Amino acid sequence: MNLEDVKAVKELLSTPQHIVIVPHKNPDGDAIGSTLALYHYLKGLGLKAVIISPNDYPKFLKWMPGSETIINFEWDMATAKNLIQEATLIFTLDFNHLARVDRMQPYLEEASATFIMIDHHQAPSDYAKVTYSDTKIGSTCEMVYNLIEALGDLNKISIDIANCLYTGIMTDTGSFKFASTTSRTHRVVADLIDKGAKNSEINTRVYDTNTPDRLHLLGCALKNMVILEEYHTAYITLSQEELDAHNYKKGDTEGFVNYGLTLEGIRFAVIFIENKEENIIKISLRSQGDFSVNEFARKHFQGGGHTNAAGGKSDLSLKETTAYFESTLEEYKGELTAP
Ligand code: 5GP
Ligand code: MN
Repeated sequence: MNLEDVKAVKELLSTPQHIVIVPHKNPDGDAIGSTLALYHYLKGLGLKAVIISPNDYPKFLKWMPGSETIINFEWDMATAKNLIQEATLIFTLDFNHLARVDRMQPYLEEASATFIMIDHHQAPSDYAKVTYSDTKIGSTCEMVYNLIEALGDLNKISIDIANCLYTGIMTDTGSFKFASTTSRTHRVVADLIDKGAKNSEINTRVYDTNTPDRLHLLGCALKNMVILEEYHTAYITLSQEELDAHNYKKGDTEGFVNYGLTLEGIRFAVIFIENKEENIIKISLRSQGDFSVNEFARKHFQGGGHTNAAGGKSDLSLKETTAYFESTLEEYKGELTAP
């Protein structure tokens, strides 16, 4: 974070503000962890803050301290709209395009508040007064830690803040195994454990939450996996019917896409999940090495993200979407098969 931005944030936080903190739609561990950590930090400074999430998030994150205060835009629209209108300062965390908040977008665009963006995705847009964007950092939670450090407040990291930041760093680095995990990440995490983060307990709360339905859904997903050896690619489909048959709940498909990459030789893994309610196919993409799923998702599926993890969507049917997907692969054969 550059000195000018630190100074600007310091100044903004030195006067009373009505603060709203916003994660992206379908928030994950990093989005919820970073917004909650910032919320606790600002409250500790004596500032008023509230988190508004564009929609609901998985149960395996609802144990997090402060989670019960998060306002769900879809369930509490009148309150949320009021808070956005009255806000003087809006933090947007773990995303960098206002389209990522879906139906909240017009309200954020109309807001008179000053915006601060903290995010690690590629190609940030230009809506914030302070843009703290760094694609080399593995999680927004690590960036919130950096911000707190830059403000000279590491001693203000409470157990609650430490637990929230630890959660987001753990989930966004794939439990410290993705290429984005650095020695700095481990130093930050070590400090968070020193400050009281319950690392082993957090791991259990986030990952050991399977239900028989979810495991059977995983079985179905793995059975549906299509392996295209020629392109070093594997993809999974899940239809709405299959989700319904397994009593699908938000978060149940988290991590399924990664199984493709565990196959030897596979560099590109994708999952296509039908969502009849929104009339879209939600897509998660993962890669190993230099193949950029961010660029792929941007070009073909109205999405984006990071080089090795991205998301997007399709307005075609499930069958048409996978047919289109397969038809794009020839163009990338060189990249996907390069030694
Ligand atoms: P996931 O596949 O786990 O939902 O998301 C992987 C990464 O891509 C995350 O960093 C997430 O924020 C980003 N992402 C997911 N869906 C979308 C999308 O529709 N558009 C953009 N721009 N990014 C997405
Ligand atoms: Mn993130």
